[in-house]
Amino acid sequence: MENQPAQPHRKIIHIDMDAFYASVEQRDNPEYRDKPLVVGGLPEGRGGVVATASYEARKFGIRSAMPSKQALQLCPHALFVRPRFDAYKEVSRCIREIFSRYTDLIEPLSLDEAYLDVTNDKLNIGSAIEIAQQIKQAIKDELQLTASAGVSVNKFVAKIASDINKPDGLKFIGPAAIEGFMEQLPVEKFFGVGKVTAQKMKNMGLHTGHDLKQLTEAELTKRFGKAGRFYFNIVRGIDNREVQPHRETKSLAAEDTFAYDLTTTEEMEAELDKIAATVCKRLQHYELKGRTVTLKIKYSDFKQITRNQSFPAGFNDLETISTTAKKLLAATDPEDKRIRLLGISLSNFGEITVKGKDEKPTDQLRLFPF
Ligand SMILES: [Mg+2]
Repeated sequence: MENQPAQPHRKIIHIDMDAFYASVEQRDNPEYRDKPLVVGGLPEGRGGVVATASYEARKFGIRSAMPSKQALQLCPHALFVRPRFDAYKEVSRCIREIFSRYTDLIEPLSLDEAYLDVTNDKLNIGSAIEIAQQIKQAIKDELQLTASAGVSVNKFVAKIASDINKPDGLKFIGPAAIEGFMEQLPVEKFFGVGKVTAQKMKNMGLHTGHDLKQLTEAELTKRFGKAGRFYFNIVRGIDNREVQPHRETKSLAAEDTFAYDLTTTEEMEAELDKIAATVCKRLQHYELKGRTVTLKIKYSDFKQITRNQSFPAGFNDLETISTTAKKLLAATDPEDKRIRLLGISLSNFGEITVKGKDEKPTDQLRLFPF
């Protein structure tokens, strides 16, 4: 006889709209349909990046966060359009209204992505697969857009599942299939595993969940710090994070006060690298992508300034965070100044503002307990 779990399994759905911005543009502008379409910065502008590419554009290798200039090189006949954020926000509101017919436990990750806990759904449907199907159908019928859904007993597996049969996909990974699924999963797919960690793992001969599973919790913690514990649990299909309907995270920050004042750019940049790494880890832990980097500087006379820069698409990679923070630092003419504190925060997670009328710099940086 099989062991019964102490608690009944949860029913978690991860819904992710397919090529969201581009799909909304193709829906609203028939002339964009079936064409390689790039929503984001224009290639002739400075520093423009791709926010979303249509599936037709992805065939040419165009991806989110890629410089628009590069996208144009990959596909010279691609159409480039500026985002219409108000339209996307409105669609996002309608999608959430559809979700709310089934559950109030909705955790949006961005305008086009959310977790739903449907363990006790409002309509007593009972089957999470059936609910996911109904949600996809309602999105199609009412909004003329497609979504992909992942269904499982926890957030981690549901999220990976939603990516498997994209676009217009639905993938269920039930309790009995989870461990086998995790074993074959390449290490890059584990969240928190960026390019650097993935390479580190491969150098250690760790390529899949199966390889990670051979290590004890102590060995994993020794090699990967706190994340090691997460890997230990997740390869066994254990992820008890709850769907948090009222996650009000507005910004996520880390800062450091130094034992002595920093006076050279090298020292300051080295400290920014460390702080950026902390922020990056926290963002990845919460699966947040921010669009605004804010640098906080406190000088030896306690005078404090903040500088920020915003991007059209969200990110949480170390490279972008630390490079942006260093650029912001360089613009303050830091050499020969005495700095006693540096901080970096990321904000603008789900919400989108039009570039050019961006929010004021945040003076109040919140340090999240971790
Ligand atoms: Mg999406």
